[in-house]
Amino acid sequence: MKSISAKWVFTCDENNSIIENGAIVYDKKIIDIDTLENIQKKYPNLETTILEDNSVLMPGLINTHVHLEFSSNSTTLKYGNFMLWLNSVIASRDELINKATKKLILKKLDKMKKSGTTTIGAISSYGFDMEACLESPINTVFFNEVIGSRPDMIDTLFTDFKSRLEKSKKNKNESFYPAIAIHSPYSVHPILIKETLIIAKEENLPVSAHFLESVEEYDWLHKDEGGFTEFFKNFLGQEKAVTKPMNFLNQFDGISNLSFTHCVEASDDDLSKIKSLNAVINHCVTSNRLLNNTKLDLSRINEADFAIGTDGLSSNNSLSMFDEMRNVLMMHSDFEINSFAKKILKASTVNAARALGLNKGILAKQKDSDIIAINLPDELAHKQDLATHIILHTKYVKKTIIGGKDV
Ligand SMILES: [Zn+2]
Repeated sequence: MKSISAKWVFTCDENNSIIENGAIVYDKKIIDIDTLENIQKKYPNLETTILEDNSVLMPGLINTHVHLEFSSNSTTLKYGNFMLWLNSVIASRDELINKATKKLILKKLDKMKKSGTTTIGAISSYGFDMEACLESPINTVFFNEVIGSRPDMIDTLFTDFKSRLEKSKKNKNESFYPAIAIHSPYSVHPILIKETLIIAKEENLPVSAHFLESVEEYDWLHKDEGGFTEFFKNFLGQEKAVTKPMNFLNQFDGISNLSFTHCVEASDDDLSKIKSLNAVINHCVTSNRLLNNTKLDLSRINEADFAIGTDGLSSNNSLSMFDEMRNVLMMHSDFEINSFAKKILKASTVNAARALGLNKGILAKQKDSDIIAINLPDELAHKQDLATHIILHTKYVKKTIIGGKDV
């Protein structure tokens, strides 16, 4: 059992409680949380690590959506338009994947840890990122992705998916959890979706899918036209979309931990359905800016919860959640900054934990001890603005605790 204290403890609980001169008693899970004074009275024999003057303790950050297999990209891919980007991915995919070695991915994971991330939702297309995720102290929800819309390929693709899923299940441990990703409504055949979701339900695995990321996707799914037409004709010999957006969403009834990524072009009906599925929307604001020059209208999501993902380095210049949270804060200039900053911190912790099915994201008794310590550059004048200053002033954390261990 250990104890740690900071000037500020930002709990991310339902009341956004902030404890001044707070302390946390923990081992693998949080045992107690209160003011330092009360903790010292209750646990007189327990020595507390007292952090420096302007320190803050908060839950470790959870990046719900990242593609580590594309970690080698920096200046290769084309931005500005979804089709240009997609074609550039196809042209450079092999080269980028080959360059994303275990060593490189571990380096990126270490940088993510230093910038406050304690858990990721890793979308794995090939399984090439599994070993790095297993070696890193960061918790991973490992989303084995299924993709493929050609009917003649269903069996092969399903067999490949199942073998990757099995491998991740064999490696399951207290910081590595197997999960399922359905690539998108346009790229996965309905039979494949059905079969993979049967497995997800039977084994109660978290599920995530990309959904309505671009105008091209909207035009193709709704009208079988637009920027995707040529692409599907040339690459896959298809002239019609395999599913409609609402038919796609309807298939996810009964999944407990569900998230949809992007949703920037989702209709009001789609967004209501997402809310009724109790799904979380993974918001990737930088990726959407780079690829489509659009952003999710957060005022339209009908109180559905949103989480924050960096997406991969294929569509971001950084995997730091603090960089991404600053971008969310700046891109949504229509919201009052201090209340929105609190929402962003909850999106990156408690909402994200729900999307991934984890007992994390809040500093409260019985929650997993995933805690980060940061330092504000000066004394905080207004307690109610703490969230804003955490987001504005943090590049790297001072300390990271995962599952009760200093890492
Ligand atoms: Zn993605």
